[in-house]
Amino acid sequence: MHDTVSSVRDPESTQAWLVGSGIASLAAAVHLIRDARLPGRNIHILDRHAETGGGITSAGNAENGYILYPGSLPYFHDECVDNLLSLVPSASGSDKSLLDTIRDFQLSETPPPGSIAKTRFLRNKGGKCERSEANHLSIGPYNRLQLMKVLLEGESLLGRYRIQDFFGDEFFGTDFWALWSTTAIEFQRCLRKHLPDIHSLNNVSTLDRTRYSLYESIILPISTYLRSEGVNFHFNAKVVDMRMTLDDNLKGDPTTVTEIVLREHEEERIVNVDPNDLTIVTIGSPNSGYQLGTNSDPPPYPSDPDDFTYGDWSLWFHLAQKATKFGVPLNFNSHTPESTLVTFTVTLHDSEFMLLYQVLTNDMPGSTTSALLPRVHKNRPEVIPPNTTNIALVGQFTEIPRDTTYNMEYSVRGAQTAVYALMGLPKSPPRTKRSLLLDVFDLLAEG
Ligand SMILES: Cc1cc2nc3c(=O)[nH]c(=O)nc-3n(C[C@H](O)[C@H](O)[C@H](O)COP(=O)(O)OP(=O)(O)OC[C@H]3O[C@@H](n4cnc5c(N)ncnc54)[C@H](O)[C@@H]3O)c2cc1C
Repeated sequence: MHDTVSSVRDPESTQAWLVGSGIASLAAAVHLIRDARLPGRNIHILDRHAETGGGITSAGNAENGYILYPGSLPYFHDECVDNLLSLVPSASGSDKSLLDTIRDFQLSETPPPGSIAKTRFLRNKGGKCERSEANHLSIGPYNRLQLMKVLLEGESLLGRYRIQDFFGDEFFGTDFWALWSTTAIEFQRCLRKHLPDIHSLNNVSTLDRTRYSLYESIILPISTYLRSEGVNFHFNAKVVDMRMTLDDNLKGDPTTVTEIVLREHEEERIVNVDPNDLTIVTIGSPNSGYQLGTNSDPPPYPSDPDDFTYGDWSLWFHLAQKATKFGVPLNFNSHTPESTLVTFTVTLHDSEFMLLYQVLTNDMPGSTTSALLPRVHKNRPEVIPPNTTNIALVGQFTEIPRDTTYNMEYSVRGAQTAVYALMGLPKSPPRTKRSLLLDVFDLLAEG
């Protein structure tokens, strides 16, 4: 996979430029410090916002309302996030890691037998609120056959299809689909990764939980740790382009980043990048272009969602114009109706709703996006694009074979891949879990 990046970098003399301050960049910074021994002062995190967190920020107050982007999904962590959290000291000042603190909280929250929360989906059936039950996921013989077809199909072929090409209308009304709803390729990857857990997928007791929001429990302690290590944060700094040398021996293919074009506090400046320095770039953001509504006004429609300078897309577009190995951002930012996700938060001034919810689900409430749009092979670039020497691409829009997007694990896995490859470390993230039998079927399907 790493065609050109092969040399081991000297941590003392390497400067690392990380574009974005979401979990992908924060994870990259932690692994640069802890695994590659890069001094914190050599790490520079650039974000166009005024604070860290990207899509995992939360803000607001009881008067004007709260903004909570994440928190809707299970599996915010798996092996890669666990590894990251084990390297960050706990905010409590003890010897414990952030992972220990989260585990301690999860253990202390384990519900007594018989009171296990059994659902995270409620659906409106004829005006009546019903729980979606993981024990009753019948989809009928035809859909079972179609499901096998999706599971066993080669991924390159699947990319051309929509999920509607495999299933009829009644399938999309089943509880089974409510648990998985996504696109054809992503559906297959989710099935392959999570099907063995089907009976517990809907079970709140198995969801990963943190004491506070993901922002407060994960992003803030990591940011605090990085600051204590001397990492440089540059906010209100948008990277608009990265200039690269073109290799004549490779028909003018861009290989090495030499300059970062930065708009910082509305002023443009150039950062020189030495060939020995490294850059790790979060391309795009699932929350890019979000619009906020109020209690009286709906969110306005984005003024020009197809404008590629809009939101977080412009850098990826500039990279993609240099070479096809940087992927196809147009596939992900130009389908606004299909990728729009509407969420809302409710500010409650008494406990009546919470009590009714608890009776229905045995739980307290916790809280389709562009990353899940249909795609074909090479729409998403590899973490280390071929024939490059000092750039890695991370986030929800890069291609990580076998893994499923729309969660922190994906961005952290990308960050670990990037750091290990660019620093020449002899390690790689753990393999994404999957059945051996499916590997064999893949071999047969791809021929
Ligand atoms: C509605 C919703 C709910 C979600 N719920 C969950 C959940 O419950 N659990 C979960 O694990 N995941 C959830 N996700 C996925 C979540 O978005 C990702 O896990 C996480 O945000 C990915 O982090 P990231 O660092 O890759 O990207 P982001 O969080 O998007 O951060 C990227 C940052 O880089 C900045 N940036 C991008 N380009 C540039 C540039 N050129 N110059 C400067 N700055 C730039 C962006 O502005 C942003 O601040 C959810 C996503 C959505 C949309």
